[in-house]
Amino acid sequence: MNSSLIGFPRVGKGRELKFASEKYFRKEISVEELEKVAKGIKIMHWNLQQAAGISHIPSNDFSYYDNLLDLTVLLNALPNSYRQLGLNERDTYFAAARGYQGEAGDVKALAMKKWFNTNYHYLVPELFDDTEIKLVGDKPFTEYAEAKAIGVLTKPVIIGGFTFLKLAKYKGSKTINDFADQVANAYIAILNRFNEQGVAWVQFDEPSLVTDLSKADVALFTAIYEKVLAHKGNVKVLLQTYFGDIRDSYEEVIGLDFDSIGLDFIEGKQTVELLERHGFPADKTLFAGVLNGKNIWKSDYKKVIDLVNGLEKYSNDIVISTSCSLLHVPYTLENETSLPDEVSQYFAFAKERLQEIKELTELIGTSGYEEQGAYLANQQVFSADRVYEDKHVQASVASLTERDFVRNVPRKKRRAIQKEKLQLGLLPTTTIGSFPQTREVKQNRSKYRKGDISRAEYDENIKGFIKECIDLQEELGLDVLVHGESERNDMVEFFGENLAGYVFTEKAWVQSYGTRCVKPPIIFGDIRRENPITVFYSEYAQSLSDKPVKGMLTGPVTILNWSFPREDISLREMAFQIGLAIREEVQDLEAAGIKIIQIDEAALKEKLPIRREEWASEYLDWAIPAFRLCHSGVRPETQVHTHMCYSEFEEIVQDIDNMDADVISFEASRSKLTIIDALKANQFETEVGPGVYDIHSPRVPSVEEMVAVLKNALTKIDEENLWINPDCGLKTRGIKETKESLANLVAAAKIIKDAVSV
Ligand code: GLN
Ligand code: ZN
Repeated sequence: MNSSLIGFPRVGKGRELKFASEKYFRKEISVEELEKVAKGIKIMHWNLQQAAGISHIPSNDFSYYDNLLDLTVLLNALPNSYRQLGLNERDTYFAAARGYQGEAGDVKALAMKKWFNTNYHYLVPELFDDTEIKLVGDKPFTEYAEAKAIGVLTKPVIIGGFTFLKLAKYKGSKTINDFADQVANAYIAILNRFNEQGVAWVQFDEPSLVTDLSKADVALFTAIYEKVLAHKGNVKVLLQTYFGDIRDSYEEVIGLDFDSIGLDFIEGKQTVELLERHGFPADKTLFAGVLNGKNIWKSDYKKVIDLVNGLEKYSNDIVISTSCSLLHVPYTLENETSLPDEVSQYFAFAKERLQEIKELTELIGTSGYEEQGAYLANQQVFSADRVYEDKHVQASVASLTERDFVRNVPRKKRRAIQKEKLQLGLLPTTTIGSFPQTREVKQNRSKYRKGDISRAEYDENIKGFIKECIDLQEELGLDVLVHGESERNDMVEFFGENLAGYVFTEKAWVQSYGTRCVKPPIIFGDIRRENPITVFYSEYAQSLSDKPVKGMLTGPVTILNWSFPREDISLREMAFQIGLAIREEVQDLEAAGIKIIQIDEAALKEKLPIRREEWASEYLDWAIPAFRLCHSGVRPETQVHTHMCYSEFEEIVQDIDNMDADVISFEASRSKLTIIDALKANQFETEVGPGVYDIHSPRVPSVEEMVAVLKNALTKIDEENLWINPDCGLKTRGIKETKESLANLVAAAKIIKDAVSV
């Protein structure tokens, strides 16, 4: 059985590429030194894959920053603003990726967006009326040659023209179809070059095929590939799809002259059904994505083998592969020295996935494979009893009823009670939670981690930070205070560390964008809160002020979305387990005298399914209840807030309202408050705090500009429902700009409050 890999993580085993790039950005190393590190990484990966016997090894899956940006450059589509800087090739590329400010000029980076349903971000191509798409670059050809030079014949990987056009932003009057011919011609030129190089296989990635497509989209796809494939020459073309099934285009796709089609059998819910209904052409190879490319759990060989055997009735020419690029998982388990065996035996990161592919290609089709060592060893993990199982938590989730998700006093009635109790007056001011993480704050944490200070000393220091934070807010004259979150470095990791059922890795980094990597915690067992997590800090903060201090928690959906989830229970089950844990924390905060509790759902929007028809059934139908579960047990006078980072939730406004929070704050300054129209149109009931300034920049907003934002907001939002706050937490900001910005915010609020009360 042959095997294929769609792509491999590229930052290196110890994040070598990240560190080298950062040195290069600081001008500490030369271009040549950076390229040397890159080459070392590529060669190591090719050798690894060769050793694992992968028959279709990718090249050009490497990138200095982002593959879509690589393609933009290759297709001559980099906006003029970057080229006009007159920098060398590499620096022009980095200017588009990161922005540039210096002697040559001042340009912002291209916008970044999440790559489908992953936490990886790509740089959005911008097409202008004078953009002329044509092949200009060399990267895929040089990388092929680089691999060939060490004796590895690769399958170059390039994001396809359709996905490129679907993800691009159109900055002039031209639209997607206007560029279709140019794109097709550029890909013909690419194929010509590959023919000259004697390349056997090329892989075109078209993940946009798994999104909801119109007839016009499918027609565009067909038109592009009819042209391109007529010129493929001796090169065989693999159309690779991932992150779902291609239900809208399957029939058209199989009618085109591709030599093989790569389908996702892990996330593609309807993939098997599509094969069953429409068959699979006998003249093509089926690249079957049967190993999870996105999660860190070992593959169950029995399931994989049964699946592949089942596919043999549709095709007798099958190549097995991962469901998507391994970019989305950490490099290797070998980096983890402190995970107990009973835990790590369940995992396979990228390098271990290679080993699985190797074993599976040997097992599949071999008679008596059930008796072989590799198979038996794998099955042993799956037959053993689950460690960290918690029957009590399971029973609690099983016994949840309707009533556990509903606050017993409806929102409108609660509002009156809360206004009476809290006496905040109109247009209260507040912040989102975190205050600047100063050097002292970070040092306190690292000293405690290293064992240099005791828990008591650590907590004493935190109390000091809390006191400073409360004093500052009192001085500024904010209405609803926060404790500042100096005890947490990350809003998910902190809760993960305090919940039983989570495990943590040391070096399991995953690229989020460019040189930024994240280390998601792993949900390993049933989740349970063992002790109060935040009560100590919130209670202390509240003791310092007569004003309400918000209790500050992260919600279950965000905790789940930023972790590696289990595969043996449903997302719903995990969200409810976490929801119950947060609920206990909410109850304890309330009992400790906290009057306002904020439960952040920064990442709620993020995992909305790619296909609209699945939004409710696959996600919102449990995600919204999981949030409600956290707060449904509080008294009517306890005010519940939530916060979301990106305000692009126009399409799910009703669902956000159904979270039944009393107040929601969100980012709105960059998106120019467009969300507010959607709120009005949907008669949004929750009180709202649309962020009046962007905290992602060190710039201090003026009083006038915030007054203007607020006046605008008041034309659409009832003054009874409006809160005044920045658009996100302040942890990445410096103290000085924070003080100035908040002082201006309070001044702007005063002007507006005076104006509305006359
Ligand atoms: N309460 C968190 C903070 O202020 C929220 C962070 C976020 O939304 N990303 O830092
Ligand atoms: Zn936020």
